[in-house]
Amino acid sequence: MTIAERNESSPDKGIVRDFAADATPSAADRLSFRERMLLASYAMHATDSRGRLHAEPPHGYRDPFSRDRDRILHSSAFRRLSGKMQVFTGEFGTYHRTRLTHTLEVTSVARTIARVLRLNEDLVEALALMHDIGHPPFGHCGEDVLADCMGPVGGFSHNQFALTIVTQLEQRYQSFAGLNLSAETLAGQDTRAHKAEAAVGRAPLLEVQVVDLADSIAYDAHDVDDAIQMGLLSIDELSEIRLVRLALDRLRDRHGVIPVSGLRQLLVHQLVDMQVGDLLSQCVETLLPYEGYKTSDLCDAGVRLGHSESMANQRDELERFLFEAVYRHEKLIPVRKAAGDRIERLFETLDRSPDRLPLRFRGRLETVAKRRVIGEYIAGMTDQFCNDRAAQIDSSGPMADW
Ligand code: MG
Repeated sequence: MTIAERNESSPDKGIVRDFAADATPSAADRLSFRERMLLASYAMHATDSRGRLHAEPPHGYRDPFSRDRDRILHSSAFRRLSGKMQVFTGEFGTYHRTRLTHTLEVTSVARTIARVLRLNEDLVEALALMHDIGHPPFGHCGEDVLADCMGPVGGFSHNQFALTIVTQLEQRYQSFAGLNLSAETLAGQDTRAHKAEAAVGRAPLLEVQVVDLADSIAYDAHDVDDAIQMGLLSIDELSEIRLVRLALDRLRDRHGVIPVSGLRQLLVHQLVDMQVGDLLSQCVETLLPYEGYKTSDLCDAGVRLGHSESMANQRDELERFLFEAVYRHEKLIPVRKAAGDRIERLFETLDRSPDRLPLRFRGRLETVAKRRVIGEYIAGMTDQFCNDRAAQIDSSGPMADW
């Protein structure tokens, strides 16, 4: 096809001609072209990014949000997700999700949604990979204990701590601390840290909302999977829940009689599919009137994505059930209690003897309150590292650096 023919068939005729006239289009031109071709008008276009705190020249072939994604992927905090529990500790075996596999499942669901809605997949991926890097060891139990211990210095929130990690604690560059992420990536995580404020008035970017929705779809489904696999729940018990019952009905309609051995995997897949399908059809309807509008217009208009009312109610019912039947299961409570006690003991020991903190955290004591520094050190630990440190606290001398 000649350039003239391509121009004629191009939905945005000027662009192909622009490139033809300029044999070496700049990275900015290429990015602009790609985004205009692939993204919806209301997606967050990287060409509209507010940039980084420390200005950097554009990359030859990676756009700002894919650079953010790579920086998060290569961070120490991201790698430690493999050693942090999601709901179940290592004492429950190795099948179940860790914080890392949860994160990858969220990323997968979020990218699928973003692609269908023609949102910015690179930004979505960066946000999804980052969304849980602030979690302390031992999940919500660790968070509760740290929040108590750090009460006098403003408490602890894993969402806020993720921001501290990417702006202060990660050391990747000579001239500044942190990862120097784009303003939109940081703002997305900040929205997670201030959920109540983000629920009213100006809406967060659609990409931020998609990651939040994908997070809850992923954990509802994989917690069902893990709990059944570990014998904490049976499919019979779960079938009291309307969403699960509907999923089972659809599976039986499609497959007939399903052997028990394969039912769990089919059920989890069906649960994800039904929730994503419902969400997408709602989103398409919500976004239809905004074709041609820019992302800032939708934020100003307070456009919020979500499930249908019926699906939202069914999901609420499932989450209430999981809260009681899984998260408060009698097998989990003593494990969590013991982990919480270890974190508290470690915290109080370090509070009495801050000289036992690793060097780089002792350095932070000059500018940050002691209890916050101790909390940051503990929150960055994997479950196993936390156990090892707790076992060492009766020994003398500084703890090894990390
Ligand atoms: Mg999560």
